[in-house]
Amino acid sequence: MLRFHNTLTNQTEEFRPLSGNDVKMYICGPTVWNFAHIGNFRTFTFGDVLARYLRFKGYALTHVMNLTDVDDRIINESHRAGQTIGEFVEPYIVAFWEDMDALGNRRPDVAPRATGHIAEMIDIIQTLLDNGKAYESEGSIYFRIAAFPDYGKLSKIRFEGNIVGGSERIDTDKYEKEDARDFALWKLVDRSDPAGWDAPFGYGRPGWHIECSAMSMKYLGETFDIHAGGIDLQFPHHENEIAQSEGATGKLFSKYWLHGEFLKVDSEKMSKSLGNDFTLRDILGRGYPPLAIRYLLLSVPYNKQLNFTFEGLQGAVSTTERLQQFRRLVSGANTTEGSDPEVKALIDKALTDFEAAMDDDLNTSQALAAIHNLVREINSVLGRDALRADDRQSVLEAIEKFDAVLGIFGKAETEMLDAEIEALIEERQEARRSRNFARSDEIRNLLAERGIVLEDTKDGVRWKRK
Ligand code: AMP
Ligand code: ZN
Repeated sequence: MLRFHNTLTNQTEEFRPLSGNDVKMYICGPTVWNFAHIGNFRTFTFGDVLARYLRFKGYALTHVMNLTDVDDRIINESHRAGQTIGEFVEPYIVAFWEDMDALGNRRPDVAPRATGHIAEMIDIIQTLLDNGKAYESEGSIYFRIAAFPDYGKLSKIRFEGNIVGGSERIDTDKYEKEDARDFALWKLVDRSDPAGWDAPFGYGRPGWHIECSAMSMKYLGETFDIHAGGIDLQFPHHENEIAQSEGATGKLFSKYWLHGEFLKVDSEKMSKSLGNDFTLRDILGRGYPPLAIRYLLLSVPYNKQLNFTFEGLQGAVSTTERLQQFRRLVSGANTTEGSDPEVKALIDKALTDFEAAMDDDLNTSQALAAIHNLVREINSVLGRDALRADDRQSVLEAIEKFDAVLGIFGKAETEMLDAEIEALIEERQEARRSRNFARSDEIRNLLAERGIVLEDTKDGVRWKRK
C-alpha cells in the first residue's frame, strides 16, 4: 500500500487516485534565469523518482512540470543583458534539460512555459475579480485573502497578526493593498515596457503564483491528484496557488501535497543568494559523474534534510562504481543451470523490502539498503562460485526493477573491461589444460557474443575487440 505524507492534512495517508488508475501530478519547475543548482535538482530528482514510482506501481501518470520564464529576476536580468525575455531564458532552458538528462531525470509529459499561458492566467484573474476575491488597486490586481477563509490550510500559518504575506518575489511596497497579506495576481506595467501583456484589466504581467494555477489546471483539470515542490514553496507559493485556484473554481485544487526538504551546505539552505550553491555543471566540471550526484541526492529520503559535502559525494562515487561492477560480475558469472531456492528467496526478499520502503512515503534510503543487502548476499554466492543460471537472470531482472525507479546502476554495460576479458581467457586456458573443452568453448562463445575475438598464437592467446 503506497502511502504519502500529505502536507495538506499533515498525515501520512494511503494514496488513492481521484479517478481509477489515472494519476495527475504537477510539480513546480525551475525559474529559468540561471543554471539550476544541485539543491534545485534535489527537488527535481525527488519529482522524477515520485513519477517513476507511480508508474512502477502501474498507475497511468500524467506528469506536468512548468518552466517559470517570467518573474522579477528574469525581467531584471534580461533588461540588464539588453535581451528580450525569450532570448534571455532560451540558453537556460536548454541547459536545464541537458542537466536533467545528465542526472537521469525523465522529462515530464508536459512542460508548459508561463509566457505561453497568459490567456489562461487572465481568465482566472477575471473570474476572481467577478466573484469578489480579487480587486484592483492603482492598476494592479490583488487577491483578497479576507474573502478566502481557508487561507493558511496548507502552511498551517495563522494569520491573525498583520503578517506581511506574499513573497519578496512578487510583492513590493509600492503597491497599495487592502490587507498586507494580499498578494499580486497581475502587476501594472508601463506601456513602454515590452515585458507586459494586454488584459481587460490593463497592460501588465502576471504574479508568479497565478502561473502555476493556470498551467496545472489547464493540463490536469480543476482538481488533480498530486502537487509537489520544494518545502520553501509551501508558503506562500502553494498557499496562494490554492487560494487562487479554489477561489476561482470552488473545488478542491490538489488532493495530495508533497514537499521535498532542502539540500543544505554547512547547515544552511543551498541557494544562489547565499552564494553557497553548486550548479550541476560546477560539480561535473570537478570530474564527478552525474550518477554519483543522483545517488547522493537519493541517499536521504526526500522529506529529510540532506547536507552536501564532497566527502559524501566521493562516497557516492565508490558506491555507484560498486553497483555497476556488481551488475557486470553477475552478467559475466560462471553459472550452472537451475536455481537455488535460498538464493531465489534472497532476491524475492530484496524486491519486497525495496517496494515496502518506497511504499512508505518514498523512503529511498531504506530502498537502497534493500539493494545493498542483496548485493552483499549475491557477492558472497559469487565468491563461492555458486550462482545458478535462473538466479542470475532473477538478479539481473531485480536490478532492472530497482533501476526503473531509482536509476542508480547506470547503463547496462555490454562492453567488458579488459581485466574481465583477461580473467575469462585465463579461465579458458585452465579449462583447456584440464581438457574441459565444453567450458573452453563456452568461454570462447561468451566472449564472441561481447565482440571479443580470440586468436591462439605460439606466444599464447591474443584478443581484440571486433
Ligand atoms: P526556483 O528555480 O527558484 O523556482 O526553484 C526550483 C525548485 O528548487 C523549487 O521547487 C525549490 O523549492 C527547490 N529548491 C531551491 N533550493 C533548494 C534546496 N537548497 N534544496 C532543495 N530544493 C531546493
Ligand atoms: Zn509553482
